[in-house]
Amino acid sequence: LKNDQLDQWDRDYFFHPSTHLAQHARGDSPNRIVSSGSGVYIEDRDGNKLLDAFAGLYCVNVGYGRQEIADAMAQQARDLAFYHAYVGHGTEASITLAKMILDRAPKNMSKVYFGLGGSDANETNVKLVWYYNNVLGRPDKKKIISRWRGYHGSGLMTGSLTGLEMFHKKFDLPLDRVIHTEAPYYLRRPDPDMSEAAFSEYCAQKLEELIQAEGPDTIAAFIGEPMLGTGGIVPPPEGYWEAIQPILKKYDILLIADEVVTAFGRLGSMFGSEHYGLEPDIIAIAKGLTSAYAPLSGSIVSQKVWDVLERGTDEFGPFGHGWTYSAHPVCAAAGVANLELIDRMALVPNAREVGAYFNAQLKEALADHPNVGEVRGEGLLAAVEFVEDKASRTFFDPSKKVGPAVTSALARHGVVARAMPQGDILGFAPPLCITHAEVDEVVTATKRAVEETLPRI
Ligand code: PLP
Repeated sequence: LKNDQLDQWDRDYFFHPSTHLAQHARGDSPNRIVSSGSGVYIEDRDGNKLLDAFAGLYCVNVGYGRQEIADAMAQQARDLAFYHAYVGHGTEASITLAKMILDRAPKNMSKVYFGLGGSDANETNVKLVWYYNNVLGRPDKKKIISRWRGYHGSGLMTGSLTGLEMFHKKFDLPLDRVIHTEAPYYLRRPDPDMSEAAFSEYCAQKLEELIQAEGPDTIAAFIGEPMLGTGGIVPPPEGYWEAIQPILKKYDILLIADEVVTAFGRLGSMFGSEHYGLEPDIIAIAKGLTSAYAPLSGSIVSQKVWDVLERGTDEFGPFGHGWTYSAHPVCAAAGVANLELIDRMALVPNAREVGAYFNAQLKEALADHPNVGEVRGEGLLAAVEFVEDKASRTFFDPSKKVGPAVTSALARHGVVARAMPQGDILGFAPPLCITHAEVDEVVTATKRAVEETLPRI
């Protein structure tokens, strides 16, 4: 197909997710049709080569064009394209992958339930928690606490858990049983004189007040990303998880760690939970599980949760929750090859080491810019947040679209980053195989893009 034709068909027929539909149909928004990728680079249909510093949607962790994964998927498709996992069926790929995940998971984890994406993993997690409390004879302990700025998907329940306005507005969300608490977002703390540790205490106090107000016997679980992702790419303030977890334990509230972005190396540790000392009862994984070569997610359940679920089936019969494509063998084969590659390429230590370099270089290039409120990150997850006035932490009016403008300028300099959906935040999450030289390319282009868009006066 000619590019013009494809572009027209795209506007005529294709319903894009998370897109301003009217602008796109009018041709007012950028349209990039991507055709190939290799390592950290992608190429579009116009022949532009771009360094993808967001790894797709923080998911192509091993980089593009990995033959080993493509071969494993092709072999599986030839041997057995599909068989389901219902009532005790399985395939070698899916059983092997479950074992490989548990070998890498934090301690006390017991089983993996497979889905297809992060949203359905969290839908499953909520059902697991409800089932758990029903088996324990606590039918009223069902509410889930999430954080403002958390991102957990865009289904009915997961869109409710997500704490970003765009995912609620005009969809009649959030649903009942979902309540939100303070975002651990130090730059936006209520009092400028608060230390990080004091802000963490403040977040913990707000959580406890919410639990008290709602009634502890009504709260089933707390869901959080070890480090906020789509809500702004914000590392937790010092002492945050240390302050939150004892409160959850005190009120017998399960902790769901949403590791859709952080699992398998993104922060420089295999799991974000181990990185920040979380002791979750359930973990959501997706993205980096297959490096997005195929759609696959998982809910990892702890022994404590598993014991109750298992008991439930003796009392109530089979566990009535499943997708046709749970543990799809071609996706599982991609997962096995991907986890092997992460080990062989030593990508977790690479994320730690190159991530530290990336964060240091970004800070050095941009932290003193008058419109840069903060440069923050951990491992290979980083952000630059723009402000109108640094001293007073005055944010830009959203209508100025500063974040998108910098992102577009950066793309013109050959680097893809993401304008995060709420706030003027430029997000980075490159493939974990990125090198020092490629980081230099990203940082140089970012500095140019920022200075062009927001010239120092
Ligand atoms: N949870 C987190 C932390 C995510 O970042 C995302 C997606 O970005 C999801 C869940 C939803 O995953 P999916 O888009 O695969 O449904």
